[in-house]
Amino acid sequence: MKRWYTKFIVDILVYLIGLIVMPSGCSVPGCKRRGGGHEFPREAQRRETWIQVIRQQCQKDKWEPTKYAVVCPSHFNEGDYSCQGKI
Ligand SMILES: [Zn+2]
Repeated sequence: MKRWYTKFIVDILVYLIGLIVMPSGCSVPGCKRRGGGHEFPREAQRRETWIQVIRQQCQKDKWEPTKYAVVCPSHFNEGDYSCQGKI
């Protein structure tokens, strides 16, 4: 007997796992915002600038972005950057 709902359940599980695993949340410490953002620049110097700014603003000296780190748009202000998350 074929279970018609098997695919439905699998779809839900995949979606839930995706919510947990997907690194779509903002990587700024204290910021809970999810749903994507700007990826870190690949250019080393610019990337380092982002990291330094986040460390300063958030007072977390050892902070490192993860491989898939993104920064949500709420931290950008006319090309500048500020940490608005709760520390
Ligand atoms: Zn954020």
